[in-house]
Amino acid sequence: MKGLITICSECGTRTELQEISIEFERKGIRATMSGILAMVCPNCGEKYVPGDIAGDVIDVVSRTIDETEGLLKRTEAHRKSLLLVRPLSAAKRLELILAP
Ligand SMILES: [Zn+2]
Repeated sequence: MKGLITICSECGTRTELQEISIEFERKGIRATMSGILAMVCPNCGEKYVPGDIAGDVIDVVSRTIDETEGLLKRTEAHRKSLLLVRPLSAAKRLELILAP
């Protein structure tokens, strides 16, 4: 792959291609996206996500969070009635997994 960082700029160790998870938070909604290819330093743990992949991931996650927020708003009344029955923690989590 072009543009991959093969030497860690923090410690000079050779990086390895791995799948990582990235956590985002936006509008009070947390999203974790896993299966993102990145070069990872086995020594210090620094992660290098290729720029084009990072841009795509941020774009998709942002749009998904926006749509999730819309869905939460549309189902607000229903959720409130459910929450009265069984109180849940307020944390809103969204998990996205890239699978081949
Ligand atoms: Zn390193």
